Amino acid sequence: MNKEELVKIKEKALNDHIPIIMDDTLEVISNILKEVKPKRILEIGTAVGYSAICFSGFLEEDGKIDTIEREHDRVELARENIKRAEVEDKINIIEGDAVEILPSLNEVYDAIFIDASKGKYPFFLKEALRMLGAKGIIFADNVLYKGYVMSDYNKHKQRTAVRNLREFLAELQSNEELETKILEVGDGLAIARKK
Ligand code: SAH
Ligand code: MG
Repeated sequence: MNKEELVKIKEKALNDHIPIIMDDTLEVISNILKEVKPKRILEIGTAVGYSAICFSGFLEEDGKIDTIEREHDRVELARENIKRAEVEDKINIIEGDAVEILPSLNEVYDAIFIDASKGKYPFFLKEALRMLGAKGIIFADNVLYKGYVMSDYNKHKQRTAVRNLREFLAELQSNEELETKILEVGDGLAIARKK
């Protein structure tokens, strides 16, 4: 991977107000991926490819990432960035709405990163669980959504997202096949491992 390019990609994304993974969240996920050495990763929410490029450094030999993005301009930028970072052999971008794409996938993934529309997290979880391999691990970003999820303030205009994030967390925590942790890093990170 070309790390100099990665730094530039990150700076440009921040300048352009593209919502990329926060440093502390990335650090937590990276430390786990270093141990897990996944062969197959699924990402929901590519944006401009920053997190996928970062994760590609932790893949096992011949490993691959599938990543889904619905905004065409972002897909184009992500393609460019992935080339510049010299990891185009490791990352496969799927353009489209994950709500439509996910049911058409039939792969087994070692790690799944959920980082797209918060109102869809319960659906993403259902699909993620269908494709998660033995000992697989799910990461979900933004699960505390600026503190709204854990507060009783629910008149916010994003209340549907908040309700769905709460449902998502409740499902994770009640699922007996998973061991779940919710960390207050970044905007809230859920980590769920298959027992
Ligand atoms: N993982 C990226 C950031 C993703 S931001 C990183 O850390 O670098 C979330 C992205 O998800 C946005 O680009 C948005 O367009 C995309 N998105 C949101 N809902 C989606 C959906 N239902 N299907 C596909 N992409 C979606
Ligand atoms: Mg995010």
